[in-house]
Amino acid sequence: MGFIDIFFPKKCLECGKEEVYLCRSCIEKVAFLKQVCIRCERPSIDGMTHVKCQKKLDLDRCFSLWVYQGVIRKAIVKLKYKFAYEISLELANHFVHFLGKKDIIFPQNVILTPIPLHRRRKNWRGFNQAEEMGKIVSERLGWKFYPDILLRKKLNFPQTELKEDQRKGNIRGVFCLNPRYDIQNTLNTILIFDDVLTTGATLKEAGKVLKRNGARKVLGLTMAR
Ligand SMILES: [Zn+2]
Ligand SMILES: [Zn+2]
Repeated sequence: MGFIDIFFPKKCLECGKEEVYLCRSCIEKVAFLKQVCIRCERPSIDGMTHVKCQKKLDLDRCFSLWVYQGVIRKAIVKLKYKFAYEISLELANHFVHFLGKKDIIFPQNVILTPIPLHRRRKNWRGFNQAEEMGKIVSERLGWKFYPDILLRKKLNFPQTELKEDQRKGNIRGVFCLNPRYDIQNTLNTILIFDDVLTTGATLKEAGKVLKRNGARKVLGLTMAR
């Protein structure tokens, strides 16, 4: 592995029970999200963007599984600062398990690509947790995994340090398409993956870059929101 794997004592991050980082009873306490349209925030089936809401460069759908709380939140926060392979593996496996259990359907021919980290931040941190977990999710679901379709061309402030109204401006123009890829009229659905969605500004901006470059179907997928 090309990154430092940090070991934490193996016990549930929420209740302290030993043997796993995310125990079943704590996971089951985390609520599932009610799916909404990313444009109008009203209910929608499986996070589909309502036909009447969708503008040309909008995501076609944006799905998040859990409410960002409890043991899920603790695991994601932990991975933001230190990479622990086993925590990410448990988290990704639970995510795939519950997507299946809840019968969440995805199109055929999915390519998963993670929200990229800027090279400088990645060098400092040593890993991109969205990339590491996205890789596991792709393997488990039989999706293609191309981690570098999107590039981050400038270093913005971390979105988490900004207020909601500042986030959209902060993220604008941050991503570009990797010139190695031609996604014009691809028949694949490109699914942009991230661990957690806060305001949605990052996913929306990444989706715009892909659509502007000719992608037909672009979805957002996050573990929590
Ligand atoms: Zn627990
Ligand atoms: Zn809508």
